[in-house]
Amino acid sequence: MAENDATMADADRADIGRDFIRDIVAADLEAGRVKQVVTRFPPEPNGYLHIGHAKSICLNFGVAAEFGGRCHLRFDDTNPTKEEQEYIDAIKDDVRWLGFDWGEHLHHASDYFEQIYAWAQHLIGTGKAYVDDQSQDEIRINRGTLTEPGRDSPFRDRSVEENLDLFARMRAGEFPNGARVLRAKIDMSAGNINLRDPVLYRILHAHHPRTGTAWSIYPSYDFAHGQSDAIEHITHSICTLEFEDHRPLYEWFLDNLPVPSRPHQYEFARLNITYSVLSKRVLTELVRGGHVGGWDDPRMPTLAGLRRRGVPAAALRDFVKRIGVAKANSVVDAGMLDFTIREQLNKSAQRRMAVLRPLKVVIENYDGPGEELDAVNHPDDPAAGSRRIRFGRELYIERDDFMENPPKKFFRLSPGNEVRLRYAYFITCKEVVKDAAGEVIELHCTYDPATRGGDSPDGRKVKATMHWVSAVDAVNAEVRIYHPLFAKPDPNAADFEADLNPDSLETLFQAKLEPSISAANADEPMQFERQGYFTRDKDSTPARLVFNRTVGLRDTWAKVSAGG
Ligand code: ATP
Ligand code: MG
Repeated sequence: MAENDATMADADRADIGRDFIRDIVAADLEAGRVKQVVTRFPPEPNGYLHIGHAKSICLNFGVAAEFGGRCHLRFDDTNPTKEEQEYIDAIKDDVRWLGFDWGEHLHHASDYFEQIYAWAQHLIGTGKAYVDDQSQDEIRINRGTLTEPGRDSPFRDRSVEENLDLFARMRAGEFPNGARVLRAKIDMSAGNINLRDPVLYRILHAHHPRTGTAWSIYPSYDFAHGQSDAIEHITHSICTLEFEDHRPLYEWFLDNLPVPSRPHQYEFARLNITYSVLSKRVLTELVRGGHVGGWDDPRMPTLAGLRRRGVPAAALRDFVKRIGVAKANSVVDAGMLDFTIREQLNKSAQRRMAVLRPLKVVIENYDGPGEELDAVNHPDDPAAGSRRIRFGRELYIERDDFMENPPKKFFRLSPGNEVRLRYAYFITCKEVVKDAAGEVIELHCTYDPATRGGDSPDGRKVKATMHWVSAVDAVNAEVRIYHPLFAKPDPNAADFEADLNPDSLETLFQAKLEPSISAANADEPMQFERQGYFTRDKDSTPARLVFNRTVGLRDTWAKVSAGG
């Protein structure tokens, strides 16, 4: 690994530990305002989790663990038209994979629908909520703008009795979708638009994954969230900055309802990453539009995609630690994620040899059945041991490692040049074989038997050491190399299709692997020497192995995209 990489890692580690959220929690415990910290991670089951959610998960579960508290997993399942059981299952899987455990505390906003309904009736009873018959458009127009106050609804002063009756009939399913809503009666001229009589309930005749058709009305996010927090005795309700303007409303509900506890909301900056869009809406459209193979396509920034690509959960946790938690929005360089993944895999992945774009080499002066040589499994970990690799007359090397007419600085194989084959011998290129079209199809080389193991007997130097695979026992494989899904560092979420990278997937069909790779465990990451880190893909069959490149050994993308 390059030296500047190591320094970068050390510098980044220095400021890990405390952030403003942890400071608040520590101060609350210290002052006795809170006895036990209770947090929650509240996904809406309308898509798979992405790496932005990982930041929220690590923060909520991390804070709870560090301060001796607990963290709940709560599905914010208030919009049945967009929510599916598949997403609920995937989210649970992903949170567990990331290394967190909610214990007995798996909850759903829908668990509280009765209570939340009763609290809506309570607001009606105290004159603080009303049924509004205006259309959606009228409500929007009458809400006003940032510079103009809103206008009171003509239905704002209905009697408590009429409101209770209409609300009960909304619940009973008497009215079609959109016919009426229940709104809080707060202040139509409030500077904060969220306080201009926000909608508490809307009519929605839809099948809910958990409550089926029991309900014809569903609470809004705002009306469900804080009250669910209160029911679960959440102490610190941590969410992203876009909810900052909702906090006065969050508090208004708690102030005006007989809730069992008093949670507080704190906001932090969401994670953004270059060359990526962290929005479930966009990710859903990528899947539905067939731009990717599914939610777990290894190019997706979803946890399922990253996992399939071979990213270890520990690397994601480390990444989240490294980026920290702050109040100011920022965009993290995708290279930083790759760096973290590489650093993690460098420690854990065993080394193997694989040739991704093969070129046949015949060792002219090598006769006999071949021989076995020793190859080290991990250069920094002697305990990982070594394995035997076969050397013989026919080999494969990487096509890029040969040039017929090399420029000055090219030190790898070229006619007349000598190089080292890793763990094996020095070889010299003697002859280039071409097909009718003039393409190089084979090299004839000689080897020096005195260089066995790759050692020079006479102090003779070669400037390149190359990986290779013996032809007789090479295993064929398909290798998938992933490039960023978007061609621009800041893709436009509104028109993301225009910014897609048409070359995000590169498939190599002819890869040759050393045979010990075929025995690989599906979850075991490997470094293919000089190529990067790889993991077997779930598309593999007994007849055909498929490998994903998790990450390359160094950042080539930045150079390519900068045009360099
Ligand atoms: P999206 O914007 O991708 O649709 P969301 O906010 O609607 O995401 P939720 O399921 O509501 O998705 O999110 C669950 C939790 O994860 C919320 O507390 C939310 O604030 C947090 N979260 C979502 N995206 C990010 C992100 N990019 N960085 C950090 N936290 C995030
Ligand atoms: Mg949301």
